Amino acid sequence: MIRFLRRQRCKIVYRSEYFSAVHARDARQSFDVMKFKKIRDQLIREHLIRRKDVLKATRISDEDLLLVHTRDYIESLKNPLLVGEILHLDYVNPWDEYIFEYFRYVAGGTVLAAEYALENKLTVFNLGGGFHHAHPDHGEGFCLVNDVAIAVRKMRQRQLAQKFLIVDLDYHQGNGTLLIFREDEDVFTFSMHANNWVDCTKKKHNVDIELPSHVKDEQYLSILQAELPRVFQDFHPDLVVYVAGSDPYILDSLGDFDISEQGMLERDILVYREARRREIPLIVLGAGGYGPDSWKVYYNFIKWVIKKGK
Ligand SMILES: [Zn+2]
Repeated sequence: MIRFLRRQRCKIVYRSEYFSAVHARDARQSFDVMKFKKIRDQLIREHLIRRKDVLKATRISDEDLLLVHTRDYIESLKNPLLVGEILHLDYVNPWDEYIFEYFRYVAGGTVLAAEYALENKLTVFNLGGGFHHAHPDHGEGFCLVNDVAIAVRKMRQRQLAQKFLIVDLDYHQGNGTLLIFREDEDVFTFSMHANNWVDCTKKKHNVDIELPSHVKDEQYLSILQAELPRVFQDFHPDLVVYVAGSDPYILDSLGDFDISEQGMLERDILVYREARRREIPLIVLGAGGYGPDSWKVYYNFIKWVIKKGK
């Protein structure tokens, strides 16, 4: 019975292409290319999930990419040299198609997570995704395609959901997602982020909170506790998309927030409980997070949900 309940509490989306594509070249200096594979492997090693329970992401089609992106931009992504320019990669060859393929599989994973969460009223973790900087016609910040926005539009197309709450607690603001939904009143964008790389686009149903460098647990969590529950109370989404970047973590090699490992878990539990107490399906996306310790943050959250989540 306990095993059954554990299996039902959440699902994990992953596939080997998530790892092999990013591992083929160290695309970002401080990004741990092993991060999501480590999480999957550790969950299996600790018997928290079984290999056969992992949902296998499917490759996203051009048709689904067109729900958000322009045709010219999608065609340009089929040229590895242009992809290399967008991502500032060295040593890209004209046959290095795996980089765009990586984004296709992970975006397909986000769509699968949303479908599964809505159809089964569950929490689903994608071991990656949350490419919130991608715009309809260009990529930014290691984000080629905006899987968050694609999943929203795909769920609407399939008539599985209409109203979405995007809770983006990555260190960076989800500027692409904000722009894409700036005129969409059925998408609420909630974000707490650093005061750099910020788009000040105004939107109905939006909360954007800038935080100072070296913000610590107490201030960070008290702001989240003060602001997020009332969004849930007032908006009533059909699906919550949680962009759970681990870059606010104090050991992150890129961000300059000072949130402890325990503070990061409390942050994640807070979001999870808001969705769960209202029985709203939730998907969680790995998003940003840099350096060798980053994987633990997302891992701790998944482990907590599997063992204790309520
Ligand atoms: Zn980030």
